[in-house]
Amino acid sequence: MRWNDAEPTAGLFGVTGLIRTVRAPEFAGMTFHEVLAKSALNRIPRSSAMPFAWTINPYRGCSHACVYCFARSTHRYLDLDSGDDFDRQVIVKVNTPEVLAAEVAKPRWSRELVALGTNTDPYQRAEGRYRLMPGIITALAEHGTPLSILTKGTLLRRDLPLLADAARDVPVEISMSIAVYDDELQQAIEPGTPTTAARLATVRAAAELGFRVTVFIMPVLPKLTDSREHLDTALAAIKDAGASRVVYGALHLRPGAREWFFAWLDREHPELLPRYRRMYATSAYASKEYRTWLAARINPLIDRYDLRGTSDDDYPATRRTRHGPRRGATGVGPATPSAAVESALPDPQAALF
Ligand code: SF4
Repeated sequence: MRWNDAEPTAGLFGVTGLIRTVRAPEFAGMTFHEVLAKSALNRIPRSSAMPFAWTINPYRGCSHACVYCFARSTHRYLDLDSGDDFDRQVIVKVNTPEVLAAEVAKPRWSRELVALGTNTDPYQRAEGRYRLMPGIITALAEHGTPLSILTKGTLLRRDLPLLADAARDVPVEISMSIAVYDDELQQAIEPGTPTTAARLATVRAAAELGFRVTVFIMPVLPKLTDSREHLDTALAAIKDAGASRVVYGALHLRPGAREWFFAWLDREHPELLPRYRRMYATSAYASKEYRTWLAARINPLIDRYDLRGTSDDDYPATRRTRHGPRRGATGVGPATPSAAVESALPDPQAALF
């Protein structure tokens, strides 16, 4: 592969440690800014509702290019935009494995759960070139550190044998994000991601190695992916792939993602735009009514396919006592509304818009 040096992008004010900027024909339209990071581990504030203490993000920006991606606004800190630049200008922290190995070797390292994939995807396409994840997994496992990975990338498959080895020493959680089970819609709204079928095949490969894989149906898109038929198709496919449980959540639209998503909706589904504008007029989150309606619709299906995780599966003990899941955003483990409750709820057309 030819890997050409290129001029750094003019606006990279927030990037420190820049080594070089590169492009390659195999990654048409992409620019990678290789940087030396000073640290690899990011501490999550104790007050956070997140069920993990630490994160690692070896990449900033994401070629998976999901229109709804909540991380888009973080590109603005680099003086890049949260639209095309987020998809095409990726910061690569090329020394992450080495820096991490030094951090976890310190005697004071707490060995709490480290989450990967919480901001941008560690198995986006660039990982095929940079191969940062094997060193990260090895460093964590060798120093007794549990890890969790959330991805849309089928490149995960490359590292499954390594993860299986790591799982002999430390807890390893694998989650695959698969929100859309309509190929046309999936390619339109997540244009840089592997297909739904390819991701399901990756779930199957992980399950066959003995992992209890979680599938995130997230975000559920009002009026686009929340029909009973779509959700039933999703859960049947997830079950068939050998996953152990499902986590779901309705779309939320933070600034940065919001404008990008609305522009996409205006192009692809203009008839829905006024309704979405109303829904997200005062909050980044879907309305309580919608979330209640969605829970009533999906939870009986999750139960029917036996894909409900227990709370012991959901959260590591070290964090569980102090922090629960972020209520309202995800659908982990709420009580199952009965079909009668669902039918008593307002029609989604009315509740939603
Ligand atoms: S894969 Fe995740 S991080 Fe990447 S664009 Fe999609 S939502 Fe954002």
